[in-house]
Amino acid sequence: MALTGLQIFKLLPKTNCGECGIPTCMAFAMKLAAKSADLAACPYASDAAKTTIGAASKPPVRLVKIGPADHEVLVGNETVLFRHEKTFVHPTAFAVAFSDAEPLTETCHEIAKVRDYCLERVGEKLELNLLLCDNQSEEVAPFVELVKTAAGATGKGLILRSSNPAALEAALGVLDGQRPLIHAATPENAEQLAALALKYNAPLVAHADTLDALAALTTKLAGLGVKDMVLDLPSSNPAAAMQYNTVIRKMALKSTFEPFGYPIINFLGGDDLPSMVADASTLICKYASILVLDRMDLQLLLPLMMLRQNVYTDPQKPVQVEPKVYAIGEPGTDSPVLTTTNFSLTYFLVSGEIENSGVPAHLVVVETEGMSVLTGWAAGKFTGAKVAAAIKASGLEGQIKSRKLIIPGYVAQISGEIEEGLPGWEVLVGPGEVIDLGPYLKKQVSL
Ligand code: SF4
Repeated sequence: MALTGLQIFKLLPKTNCGECGIPTCMAFAMKLAAKSADLAACPYASDAAKTTIGAASKPPVRLVKIGPADHEVLVGNETVLFRHEKTFVHPTAFAVAFSDAEPLTETCHEIAKVRDYCLERVGEKLELNLLLCDNQSEEVAPFVELVKTAAGATGKGLILRSSNPAALEAALGVLDGQRPLIHAATPENAEQLAALALKYNAPLVAHADTLDALAALTTKLAGLGVKDMVLDLPSSNPAAAMQYNTVIRKMALKSTFEPFGYPIINFLGGDDLPSMVADASTLICKYASILVLDRMDLQLLLPLMMLRQNVYTDPQKPVQVEPKVYAIGEPGTDSPVLTTTNFSLTYFLVSGEIENSGVPAHLVVVETEGMSVLTGWAAGKFTGAKVAAAIKASGLEGQIKSRKLIIPGYVAQISGEIEEGLPGWEVLVGPGEVIDLGPYLKKQVSL
């Protein structure tokens, strides 16, 4: 049961020391009640307070683990309805469905595509997470063959979908210890599927046709001892799916309604690509923990991967690269030296333009806690003194002859401070826009 801010406040030390990063215990209590702070931030909380508040603040959406340890997919554990309130925690897991009614030779080819798919963007590898094996044949042998092939070829976690408990049990038997997600328990087969989930220590989808029936089903499954569940409520159209997802997540977070305190699975199919992208985008933003695609389609995946990455980036922690000197191309001792911040997007834009220009260069990336150039400068994180210190600490001066440093055009004002900190260096103010960097570099090396 959730505690109010006042109830939590009564359990805190009430010394207003501020060490939690918040000036008063009352303000900290309010944040704890809103699930936007962590009790661990208060070093003086008593054991009794930790026990009481900890129990009350257990994640309203259960964390569910799917797949083998080396390809484990985590879903759930969300605490906010809107990303800007804190952050979304576990990205929507993308799954691709395969049917055991299709010839296995053709399916193998598509399964290999799932295994090999990898899109690299701003330093992150974006991949497909799960495969759904669909027992459309309703027979045991082809289902088990498909499951063996999918697991063996990819090593990724599986979702096993069948209305035949014998087929599910046979497939679970060949996936010992790999925690596949079982689809699905219904009001009719709840006891049988709960027994399978418990026997094989596998998470279980709860599938019902209405919100009321779904709440009754998860309550029943929990009573049977099933802890790790995923919710499936079929919908006739994308608007209804979004509405159901929103009701479920809102009741879990705002009313602490335990029957809906689980991740959600949604299914996507169709022939019209733009509509599929629009529908999938809505579900990614509105609480789909797992999104099952009915086929492997590169045109569909590209926008979805990028959207997922953007939505599930912590707004409080900009994506960063390691601050150090990067060699772009094969720079020599006379190659240009440039500097920028360690905001990932800035780094990849700048390094990409340098690479495209064909001019090898040394790029000194300064630690700015992931802030971009202008933000870092305004926050005092990208100063002339920090740039000079980064170059000195890197040892670059001992490795190159060049003593010219190109800085971003928008922070021309730090050039004097850099020259003070780096005697003998000349600071050149580069272009403000990264798109102009290539022509600027070519001009510099031709001088
Ligand atoms: Fe209060 Fe603990 Fe925060 Fe100090 S660290 S202000 S005692 S909640």
